[in-house]
Amino acid sequence: MTAITPDNITVPRKLPEGGKTNLVGLTREQMRETLIAAGTPERQARMRVGQLWQWIYQKGVTDFSVMTNLAKDYRALLAEKFTISRPEIVTRQVSSDGTRKYLLRIQGGHEVETVYIPEDDRGTLCISSQVGCTLTCSFCHTGTQKLVRNLTPAEIVGQILVARDDLGEWPKPGRHPKDETRLLSNIVLMGMGEPLYNFDNVRDAMKIAMDAEGISLSRRRITLSTSGVVPEIPRAGAEIGCMLAISFHATTDEVRDRLVPINKRWNIEALLNALRAYPKLSNSERITFEYVMLKGINDSDEDARRLVRLIEGIPAKINLIPFNEWPGAPYERSSNNRIRAFADIIYKAGYASPIRTPRGEDIMAACGQLKSATERARKSRAQIEAEIRR
Ligand code: SAH
Ligand code: SF4
Repeated sequence: MTAITPDNITVPRKLPEGGKTNLVGLTREQMRETLIAAGTPERQARMRVGQLWQWIYQKGVTDFSVMTNLAKDYRALLAEKFTISRPEIVTRQVSSDGTRKYLLRIQGGHEVETVYIPEDDRGTLCISSQVGCTLTCSFCHTGTQKLVRNLTPAEIVGQILVARDDLGEWPKPGRHPKDETRLLSNIVLMGMGEPLYNFDNVRDAMKIAMDAEGISLSRRRITLSTSGVVPEIPRAGAEIGCMLAISFHATTDEVRDRLVPINKRWNIEALLNALRAYPKLSNSERITFEYVMLKGINDSDEDARRLVRLIEGIPAKINLIPFNEWPGAPYERSSNNRIRAFADIIYKAGYASPIRTPRGEDIMAACGQLKSATERARKSRAQIEAEIRR
């Protein structure tokens, strides 16, 4: 595993625009302090934060001049010192199945991808937490890209704002933002990066996503996916409280070491112990186990039975993901029959075992295919294979 620790990577808070501070992504307390430092009277600051949050996150406003419940002079002051900025859209691709993939440019010229997946009963935005990933899961395209840096809270929340702009989802007069028909109703942290290696920024961004004056999504509509950063799992429960998905992918340490190398640091047993202690676990708040189906590697009946034994007692759903191929990938997708047989064993043991339909394959938007076009530092197939054998 790479030795880079992303925790101390410098995170820029200011955007280049004339040195103005971006108000997007600041916690309530940070924004309060920022407004006071800019001359807002202390006794008004808390109320101003609430008003600004509603303009920014519920109405999608980017221009201070339209904030009619603020005095004209105050709007001018805000405009002089601050911006309300989002990442810039470089490309926007729409798949034949309606999936939308955005390539976004962030400060420093880096690029990240965000994917919107419409379904009958929901619209899910798959967001990225890092540029690239320090982990090197051998079946994942993002894992072949070097980590450039952690995303800031503004860049994480900004992905939601960009998608809402594009979906035209800002309330029309008389329409309440909590409308069940919301186009963007769910968030999954399943894009590029390992969210638990960018914990603080992901937490601050998700707090804005869950806040009633922010994006206002229920914590049960937000799912954080981790490859298994065991020490951060209790913090995710305590400080974010969202739903959890685990990239499990194997039923023995030997195979998991090869597929998800972080397993060498925290093995299956350590991971399962952390999951058993995750707060609020119940049949209505289950943990999702993601399991990528790789031909001849992890897809036998014996694997399915072992999986059932391992997770015994954990309220869980097993999401089977047919492997999405990418150029140079050292694996193949299991056959449909094999996936169905595997799903059947799990289902008969009492667990939901949905097979994830790959979405947006024609635009390389499916799970594990994300990798920004500017990052050409892809490892060779030989390098990946050497890592697997290690
Ligand atoms: N880093 C986090 C979140 C991003 S990956 C994590 O690993 O959990 C989102 C999901 O897609 C993970 O379960 C990941 O294992 C899976 N995935 C990665 N590459 C894939 C591929 N080529 N085909 C199918 N699923 C893949
Ligand atoms: Fe990183 Fe997740 Fe891909 Fe593993 S599967 S390399 S943790 S993005």
